[in-house]
Amino acid sequence: MLLLLCLKPAATNAKLCIIKQWAIISGFHLTILHSYNQTNYSLNYLHSMTKKNRQAIFDKYDGRCAYCGCELSKGWHVDHLKPIRRSIRQNGKCRYPTRDCFENCMPACASCNINKHQMNLEDFRNLIYGFIKHLNERNTQYKIARRYGLVHQADIEIKFYFENYLS
Ligand SMILES: [Zn+2]
Repeated sequence: MLLLLCLKPAATNAKLCIIKQWAIISGFHLTILHSYNQTNYSLNYLHSMTKKNRQAIFDKYDGRCAYCGCELSKGWHVDHLKPIRRSIRQNGKCRYPTRDCFENCMPACASCNINKHQMNLEDFRNLIYGFIKHLNERNTQYKIARRYGLVHQADIEIKFYFENYLS
């Protein structure tokens, strides 16, 4: 089960550590969203994005999420393919500011972007592989549905939409 948590920049590492341990013990996949003070926010490209730039990102994969390939709907997100790694301690300053550019910006549906969070692509791929393992180990309804033939698992390599898009 996915748990979304929104923390203020003032949240201490100790608090975060306790929350993470609780999530592991309770079997939650934890995604932490940090809320930043907009006046201190240091991102440039993403936060000064014009309609034209946003449209260019939307058009990269014909209006589809770069990861799962679903059609993007209102409120779609812009993800950094290579994470820019925002630092809570420095009011949201990013560690890799040069990655905040058009080439590294991907159109994404909200769920892909939120799940990917600050992961690199391979970590995100492994996270998705882990969903099936988690369902098989912990979700009774999923296991029952599988036994009744309602769910068929496929042992396939995960390829993201944008990886297939150009090939
Ligand atoms: Zn998606």
